[in-house]
Amino acid sequence: MRGETIDIPIRLHRDLPDDAEVKHVSVKQESTGTWYASFDVEQEEPEKPDIEDIDPADTVGIDLGVLNFIYDSDGRSVDRLNLTDDREQLEREQRSLSRKEYESNNWEKQRQRVAEVHMDMRNKKRDFKHKLARFYTSEYDAVFVEDLNIKGMLEADGNARNKADVGWRDFIRVLKHHGRKHGCHVVEVEPAGTTKECSRCGVETEKPLWVREHSCPSCGLELDRDWNAALNIFSRGLEELGVVHSEEMPVETATAVDTVSVSASRVVEAGSPCLKEAASAAE
Ligand SMILES: [Zn+2]
Repeated sequence: MRGETIDIPIRLHRDLPDDAEVKHVSVKQESTGTWYASFDVEQEEPEKPDIEDIDPADTVGIDLGVLNFIYDSDGRSVDRLNLTDDREQLEREQRSLSRKEYESNNWEKQRQRVAEVHMDMRNKKRDFKHKLARFYTSEYDAVFVEDLNIKGMLEADGNARNKADVGWRDFIRVLKHHGRKHGCHVVEVEPAGTTKECSRCGVETEKPLWVREHSCPSCGLELDRDWNAALNIFSRGLEELGVVHSEEMPVETATAVDTVSVSASRVVEAGSPCLKEAASAAE
């Protein structure tokens, strides 16, 4: 076979960037039997904008929510990815597997079905995170999120929280990757008190998880609790990065626009364009 070349048809999950140079291709077979080729590409990374050139309006704070996947300081919320159907399918396939004779041909076929559903769910989650990260890092000069390493220590209560943290950590990793690719600063900020503090006057109020509204007893500001948190993350991010801004701005932003909610399925189907529409609808 030496010296001979053969063409293998592939299905490309993401386009290779035009200016990218392919360094390596590694080929791997998944437990489903599907072959995967991953391309290592070398690409010039764009410069991130200088701090003094950044307009606060081109930056955003993102709250990694409990009910929503994210809520941002410009008033956008994005639902969690709904994988109910996939989970039900997984259960069905697993039940069917348990009824097959261990290591029989039918068992082996069914084992592959289960692996396929697993893989499909993994791909959906990855795709969802990449589309969101691409949107935020190409739309903004800087993106601010909470530092989860600190947050984990503050709120070490229970398994559900930790499980969600794994997804968010992965999202922040993807966000940083796209930040490098699109020349966008990704900054992690101190998370203590982002939910309690009023984003307008700074007065703290206790809020159990079921209280979804921020209603400030001191200055009267009323808005969604996660939006309020996102605004606090936004102002902490500006400070951390050293962007000069007027103290009034976050509040003006908060009261001038309505909340826009984007369902996760729209992110998955349409990618970033639907988020852009949402953004302009909010203005
Ligand atoms: Zn207040």
